[in-house]
Amino acid sequence: DPRIATISSAIRVIPDFPKPGIMFQDITTLLLDPKAFKDTIDLFVERYRDQNISVVAGVEARGFIFGPPIALAIGAKFVPMRKPKKLPGPVISEEYSLEYGTDKIEMHVGAVQAGERALIIDDLIATGGTLSAAIRLLERVEVQVVECACVVELPELKGRERLGDKALFVLVNGS
Ligand code: 5GP
Repeated sequence: DPRIATISSAIRVIPDFPKPGIMFQDITTLLLDPKAFKDTIDLFVERYRDQNISVVAGVEARGFIFGPPIALAIGAKFVPMRKPKKLPGPVISEEYSLEYGTDKIEMHVGAVQAGERALIIDDLIATGGTLSAAIRLLERVEVQVVECACVVELPELKGRERLGDKALFVLVNGS
């Protein structure tokens, strides 16, 4: 698909951010290019429309940029999965391990119902820790996770393996 090259070239890579040795994939430059941003959303919408998906779950923070336009276009609700202590109502939370220590994501109780079909969106998969926690969170309340989708995958970090048998769809690879 010729749109993939446009998307890939609109993502800026910033060396040594946020610390030395990291090649940060900066999607803010993709958002500055309306054609590339629209192509990104369209590619996801083309894949997920007509799949009976009623929930698009977006992971804080950049899943909040890509998730809502996809949700609106496919007629699904948008559910934010947030960092701890951000959501005001009762939450369920799920922990995941980082290089040093652990982190958590949270979702409002009652945001989704058992039996719903969900798509999880984030901008990027690195080690897969964040997405694997998002999957567990939804599966704990008996939501069916149809697929996870990201704009960028860092394949060298093998995050895909951490998702087990859950399908992962990505548009471009970073390094
Ligand atoms: P993981 O849990 O897969 O190791 O890390 C993925 C999470 O970290 C995502 O929420 C993603 O937004 C963030 N992240 C890690 N590295 C990068 C990067 O190079 N660029 C961007 N935009 N996000 C990153």
